[in-house]
Amino acid sequence: MSLLKSSTKLAGEGTSQVNNVTKCIASSYSDKQGTTPNSLDTWILDSGATYHVCDSLSFFTAYREVHAIPVKLPNGNIVTTNIVGDINITSQITLKNVLYMPHFSFNLISVSRVSQDLGCVFAFTDTLCFIQNSMQKMIGSGRMINGLYYLEGTQSQVEIQTGKQCNSLAIPKTALWHFRLGHTSHKRLELLQKLYQNIEVNKVDFCCDICHLAKQRKLSYELSNSRASSCLELLHMDIWGPFSTPTPHGHKYFLKIVDDFSRFTWIILLKGKFETTSKIQNFILFSEEHFGHKVRYLRRDNGPEFLSLSKFYISKGILHQTSYVNTPQQNGRVERKHQCILNIARALMTQSHLPPRYWGYAVLHSVFIVNRVPSNAIKGQIPFTVLHNKLPDLSQLKVFGSLCYVSTQDNHMSKFDHRAKKCVYLGIKPGMKGYVALDLHNHEIIVSRNVIFEETIFCILIIHQNLWEYMVPPNDIHSSHIAPNTTTNDQETTNNPSTRQNNFPIEPFSHPEPSHTTSPSNHDQPSNSPTDCNQSHDSIPPTPTHSPEPSPTIPLRKSTRTSKLPSHLLDYHCNSMTHTTPYPISHFVSHDNLSPSYSTFCLSLLTDKEPESYAEASKHECWTKSMQTELNALANNNTWVIVDLPEGVKPIGSKWVYKIKRKADDTIDRYKARLVAKGYN
Ligand SMILES: [Zn+2]
Repeated sequence: MSLLKSSTKLAGEGTSQVNNVTKCIASSYSDKQGTTPNSLDTWILDSGATYHVCDSLSFFTAYREVHAIPVKLPNGNIVTTNIVGDINITSQITLKNVLYMPHFSFNLISVSRVSQDLGCVFAFTDTLCFIQNSMQKMIGSGRMINGLYYLEGTQSQVEIQTGKQCNSLAIPKTALWHFRLGHTSHKRLELLQKLYQNIEVNKVDFCCDICHLAKQRKLSYELSNSRASSCLELLHMDIWGPFSTPTPHGHKYFLKIVDDFSRFTWIILLKGKFETTSKIQNFILFSEEHFGHKVRYLRRDNGPEFLSLSKFYISKGILHQTSYVNTPQQNGRVERKHQCILNIARALMTQSHLPPRYWGYAVLHSVFIVNRVPSNAIKGQIPFTVLHNKLPDLSQLKVFGSLCYVSTQDNHMSKFDHRAKKCVYLGIKPGMKGYVALDLHNHEIIVSRNVIFEETIFCILIIHQNLWEYMVPPNDIHSSHIAPNTTTNDQETTNNPSTRQNNFPIEPFSHPEPSHTTSPSNHDQPSNSPTDCNQSHDSIPPTPTHSPEPSPTIPLRKSTRTSKLPSHLLDYHCNSMTHTTPYPISHFVSHDNLSPSYSTFCLSLLTDKEPESYAEASKHECWTKSMQTELNALANNNTWVIVDLPEGVKPIGSKWVYKIKRKADDTIDRYKARLVAKGYN
């Protein structure tokens, strides 16, 4: 986890040295003297750093000037700092002798230095880090994101969660095309540069952490030299899945189709294998019609879902070939393509910090990229070019997972409504050349042509109690230097998952000329996509407010605003977000070691209580309703007949019994009230 590697100490005046930064996350490094002014105020816990580093003077509670201290940057440049100071990073941790390094775009906490200064202990697990003081009391915690431990509960995070201030990761502008093209190799970028003048290949050999984290070595399957002689002559097909996390639209599998001649690849997301036969038939019918070539051979594995298509193959004159069991080399082309697509998809997921359920968009976007970069298997040609006989248009390619603003053109808007939504870019909607974006406020998927991109910025995912949120940079950053990419007034929200499914994923259905409709389309349809957000809340987090960065020369100005939790978090214990009580219960009682489902169950037990008496139940509408239902049922079944009490008979009483019935996932199915006779007296 060492972000800073040790190196030769540089001559200084003995105050402090920062180790040689030989490796840093490309996505979090930016040269502030350049065009990427965005700064990180997240704190990385680094066991390899010998000193704390902070990139913004606004965090310092006190600082002083010292003799210049030289520090080596990732790009090899040596910069100096002459400011050292103290920072109250949380209510319980104060960092001493922090180096002010405006050229860094992240902040480092030296684990060894905090241990020395505060006499505390760090414990690291695979996902978390705990900091305890000498009395074994927890004074802080960290969470691992992409291999780095980030301190939780810092002042800035509290502000971010409450919308006061925002944050992000930035990528160097010189690496933009590397990120746009799904972390494609330098060699491929250079090939593309010969074809596209606007593609920049970064000269600086930066170290991209995402490439290392996401990419897997190539498979060693034998390369076969044989190749089909024309497009669509031979198609390779395979199904992948099930993936443990379904997409927001319930997809668990994908069908991959590779054209042997062009190596063009199509991905079709599937909810289950039962969809395979109809999707293959539709694909073959459409592509023969669209490309004017006939499918002659189909090569695929032995899955039973392919076998049921025998009649269809015969009627089309298609010869289908199977690969032998346990010899995937037979299907080596599909396998290799699969590794390639998953490598890119993994990189896209890593750089975007998206929750796993958005894997479908990453896979579709990686195929979009794979089809548009040179392929070794066809001697450096581009699959798209071989299939379509023209160069692909890369002008709309954007960095997957980057921040974007989708314009809200709505007739029903008032003058002071926001004119854009903060979103995360999820890919291109082929055909209409629309952009697919995830609305950060309500987690809806939007397709729009009217989008402004902040491609160098990724939002940071913060997870609390299985809820996730993005930290987004403030409105005022960057807006000046990115021009709007599209000016058409065409936007739609795709609330209907089936519509989205049909519109988005399949390439062959994606290349008709864009329809330049000008109506705002179905934008004002009511939102009804519960599957999109999977959230137990429907409130909208507060919009981050405009907070200009203080000038570096002015000492710290603390905000006087009182922080307030977003309403959707009021039901949760958010220990890192509030510091109002000296002994928050979350420090002593924790659900952290429980599985998510068991934790949900325990929490639901705390909130839903079965009443013990009629008096208690009658105060709640859910119980009065269920009692009425029970009375109606008794009446309908003629359970009783009202008679005069015979002499000498002692009547027995009755009693209400209340039960909450739960579904398998612990959510409430119904409230059940039963009227029972007290048979025991
Ligand atoms: Zn990379």
